[in-house]
Amino acid sequence: MAKASITAPSRQQLDSPVYDELGMERNPDNLYLQTIDAVLHAAEVLELPHRVQIILAQPVNEIMVHFPVRMDDGHHALFKGYRVQHNNALGPFKGGLRFHPDVHLDDVKSLSALMTMKCSLVRVPFGGAKGGVKCDPWKLSSGELMRVTRRFVSAIAPMIGPDHDIPAPDMGTNAQVMAWFADTYMNITRGVSGNDALAVVTGKPVEMGGSLGREKATGQGVIDVLAEMLPELNLSIKGGTCSLIGYGNVGSWAGKLWTERGGTVLAVMDHTGAIYNSEGLDTHALDAYVKEAGGVNGFEKTHHGAQKISEEEFYSTQVDVFIPAALEQMITPEKAQLMNCKVVAEAANAPTTPAGERVLMEKGVEILPAILCSAGGVTVSYFEWVQNRSNVYWDAEKVDDELNRHMVLAARRVGLARHRYGVEMRTAAYIAALDQIGKVYALRGIFP
Ligand code: GLU
Repeated sequence: MAKASITAPSRQQLDSPVYDELGMERNPDNLYLQTIDAVLHAAEVLELPHRVQIILAQPVNEIMVHFPVRMDDGHHALFKGYRVQHNNALGPFKGGLRFHPDVHLDDVKSLSALMTMKCSLVRVPFGGAKGGVKCDPWKLSSGELMRVTRRFVSAIAPMIGPDHDIPAPDMGTNAQVMAWFADTYMNITRGVSGNDALAVVTGKPVEMGGSLGREKATGQGVIDVLAEMLPELNLSIKGGTCSLIGYGNVGSWAGKLWTERGGTVLAVMDHTGAIYNSEGLDTHALDAYVKEAGGVNGFEKTHHGAQKISEEEFYSTQVDVFIPAALEQMITPEKAQLMNCKVVAEAANAPTTPAGERVLMEKGVEILPAILCSAGGVTVSYFEWVQNRSNVYWDAEKVDDELNRHMVLAARRVGLARHRYGVEMRTAAYIAALDQIGKVYALRGIFP
């Protein structure tokens, strides 16, 4: 991982012949095409057979449903839901459910493909899927949120299942939503015995079959990857600095664990504003504040040393590691120009645009890709599924150790692929993931 070997990605955008063959429009702004393009580029480097490339270029199933829900004022509203099942060569479809006003089919498709890659990279026996409901969960009452969840489950129940497709939390959903999800599924699938049906969804509350350590797992996975990879870049968490976009579940856990291991978090930005402390922000106090206030804005008024900064100042803050842990596509070329970091650790899914990535790489910034950095959540989801199915529950230490083992091995796989193929880190991560999928297809063949 010598710094001298860092080069801008050599791939030409959207040049795979597969797009014409499958009638896919070559739109460089489309998130799905951006994701698949990176996958197909890696598949070319790995010389994956044409049949595997066309299978991966489109999801197996794209499910769209509409369902009515009674709102608190008595009127009924119609909601749109999605479940995209990208690939199940390695095991049941797996991936989160997003409740957000901006949920669109192409984004869900893109996120489902990323799940296929993530599960393969960390070698958990799952395929990839993603789903969501177009709604604003922050504006719904608890009762409305529950009814939206239950009606959505009833709409997709025939297409999911503990052996077929296992959802989980993502943006706008949490353990409570997963509890309603499991309860609804258990009520409507009478043929499946209680405990088996419980494994239809992961990220449940611990009291209801959830795993210890699942809530912090994605943030912890980011830190596990950084602890493994920073020394090779002559950096370390201890004594290191970072900035974070997003202070929800993933961002706050990454921030807290970064400081617990001796690093400082200099700046944090979310949808409400940006804050900075040259001495390092109190990440635990910030977590408590954000849970109460809904965002980082105003933290500077309650905490000595913290100050409000502009968005431009946030991006320009000099740090070792920049951690985007919020929405997709935040690092545009303009933002990349401002950024002053040595490493980007993609804790969010697809936070860097291809054009933003080119700017960062020209500046010599190392990008640790999302399918590696953000894979901790699904890894502990796998542990939860295993615990549900075996009825043997693990202690927190075992979860932490097993998660660390999966993340470290995945990071090493990426490092090996990078050296062997002489590619940048994102392509190396896809190669390490595709290698496993390619081997399985070679063994299974294509039915009939
Ligand atoms: N939504 C998370 C992700 O994007 C977790 C998925 C899961 O646990 O299945 O990785």
